[in-house]
Amino acid sequence: MFNNYDFTGKKILIAEDERTNYLFLEALLKRTNATLIWAETGKSALEEVQKDGTIDVILMDIKMPQMNGYEATNEIKKIQPQIPIIAQTAYALAGEKEKILNAGCNDYLSKPIMGKVLLEKINKFINPEK
Ligand SMILES: [Mg+2]
Repeated sequence: MFNNYDFTGKKILIAEDERTNYLFLEALLKRTNATLIWAETGKSALEEVQKDGTIDVILMDIKMPQMNGYEATNEIKKIQPQIPIIAQTAYALAGEKEKILNAGCNDYLSKPIMGKVLLEKINKFINPEK
């Protein structure tokens, strides 16, 4: 079983405007024991980072109301550049990856999200020595 990661004591901010997508991520991450924070807009993701200095990883949807994922990443990187941000996009357009990385995201995934791949990427940032 791929979902045997232990993220106990780690805090993951999930910026995602669609409830079903959030619930998928919540179900995927439940067994890792990570603490999850859900932000439904880019603006509220930024506000979470402003008030909380202990976020370990951010999962960033690109298409969101009130500040999209590019803008939110840009602002977040100005105040807490050390937090890894993994973007999630439904766009499969050429150049999209460059755009995401240029915005300051550390990594990215295309939707539909493959659970195994997402967990591997989160683990890479949370437990870089493993
Ligand atoms: Mg969205």
